[in-house]
Amino acid sequence: MESRIAMAVHGGAYVIPEPERKAHRDGCIQALQVGWGLLEAGASSLDAVEAAVAALELDGAFGAGVGSALNEEGVVELDGGLMDGSSMQVGSVAGIQQVASAIKVARKVLDSQYALLVGDGAVRFAERNGLQLVDPRSLVSPRELRRWQESHGRQSETWHREMFGDTVGAVAVDRNGCVAAGTATGGSPRKPKGRVGDSPLVGCGLYADNRTAAVSTTGHGERLIPLVWAKTAADMVGAGIEPQAAADAAVELLERERVRGGLIIADRLGRLGIAWNTPQMAFACRVAGSSDFRAGPEG
Ligand code: ASP
Repeated sequence: MESRIAMAVHGGAYVIPEPERKAHRDGCIQALQVGWGLLEAGASSLDAVEAAVAALELDGAFGAGVGSALNEEGVVELDGGLMDGSSMQVGSVAGIQQVASAIKVARKVLDSQYALLVGDGAVRFAERNGLQLVDPRSLVSPRELRRWQESHGRQSETWHREMFGDTVGAVAVDRNGCVAAGTATGGSPRKPKGRVGDSPLVGCGLYADNRTAAVSTTGHGERLIPLVWAKTAADMVGAGIEPQAAADAAVELLERERVRGGLIIADRLGRLGIAWNTPQMAFACRVAGSSDFRAGPEG
């Protein structure tokens, strides 16, 4: 029996400046359409998630891929991860420069014998596997250069309260009832070179298991890692909680710990959950049988 397809994408949960909200919403809708088209044509959730996250990375509006926040040296340094809920294979990369899409490198890692590659080695791996390296300057957006210059390249201790955090991610279930999750980010603004947050870490920034759910998260990485937040949310679905209730409960857990963030969930029955405790979250989602999508932030 064919399963019901479903997909959700996000473009970060934080205080999205009013003039940037439409671009965030539109970027999410476009990425959803890319992934949805693939799912409808019978592609795997893994392919759909990779394509949707890559679209978000190339959009320029988000803090992932092109347009990412700059590290203390004024350079874009990316993290990302992709997980397949049927094979339970994962591919992640961290601290990579000279590539426009961390998720594409993560896919190559997933298809290899490795699970996590970092830094220069990951860049070399990307090149060996046919991905194009780019001039790092081509990844720097005028918006992020301005922010970096205004802060003199220094990260304040309270950066997470400023809440610039437009990490991107996607979750999907395909016709075969297989789920997948992907997350990609440029990390926190003005981060020290080599800093890695939750986004590429299995169980923290992403998780996918056909028996439970696919989850992609966004938020204050240093605080989300100890919560193993993505796996915690997936396990709630595994325990019989419906995905939206699981997303709400996962955010309640954040509230209790005074952490800010958001997450998207898809299970193999084609049910979705989306929740956040920041002022806005950029997202778009659609389930089989509805001709329409839902998207935010409004206004
Ligand atoms: N979680 C990301 C990180 O800590 C930031 C974000 O979600 O915006 O690198």
